[in-house]
This record gives sequence, structure tokens and C-alpha cells, in this order.
Amino acid sequence: MTEFKINEKPTKLYAEVMGNLVMKNGIVTVGEGKSSTGDLVGSDPNQLPAEKGAVGHIHTHPVASDVTLTYMKRGSSDGGRFRAGPSPDDRKEADKNKNGVRNVVVDQKNVYLINGQSSQTVIIPRRK
Ligand SMILES: [Zn+2]
Repeated sequence: MTEFKINEKPTKLYAEVMGNLVMKNGIVTVGEGKSSTGDLVGSDPNQLPAEKGAVGHIHTHPVASDVTLTYMKRGSSDGGRFRAGPSPDDRKEADKNKNGVRNVVVDQKNVYLINGQSSQTVIIPRRK
């Protein structure tokens, strides 16, 4: 995917990256294991390396707000709607955590601590 444009304006974006959240002595932090499919949107939790104490995961969303993006993919123009905050699939994924630990989504503006319920999302503004 190359030549990203938001509302026809060229922009630079990075692929999603996902990492393990691990618990040690009752405290959850970002672990060592990470993965990326190289795609702008879409991470695969199954690609995360196994890690001792893994209790959930964290991943990035590259955009700052919900936008319509166009780009070139394998020689042809493509595009679609891209989400800043957690997606419905992200919440479904977080709902699989049976340990009460929330998954984390980070976009350009906020950090979201999520479980299966959108009404329970904790939003932490990132420092500018
Ligand atoms: Zn996501």
C-alpha cells in the first residue's frame, strides 16, 4: 500500500503494529512480543509470539480520526473508510480476555482501554 491520500491530500501513514500485554506481579505492561501484517489496518493476534504472562494485546490505529483514504495497492487504486478508535472487531477480540484485562488501542490522539462493552471504554488523551 502506497500513495496514501486523505481527502485527496497526500499523507504519510504507518502500518498497524500489535504487541503482547503481559502481567507480572499484578501489573500489566507491554511485553517483548510484537507483530505486524504490514497492512495499514488489520492486525492478527494469532501472529503474536507466545510470551510468558501474556494476558492481552495492544495495537495501533494509524489515523487521527475516522477518514476516507485512497491508496495504491498492487498497481491499482483502492480505498475505504479507516477508523481511529477501537473497531467492533477490536471489542469482540477484547471480550475474549477471560482474565478481566482490557486490550489497548492507540491512535494518533488517544489510548483506549477496551473490553467487549463500548460504554465501558476508558479513553486517555495522548500527550501532544
Ligand atoms: Zn483495531
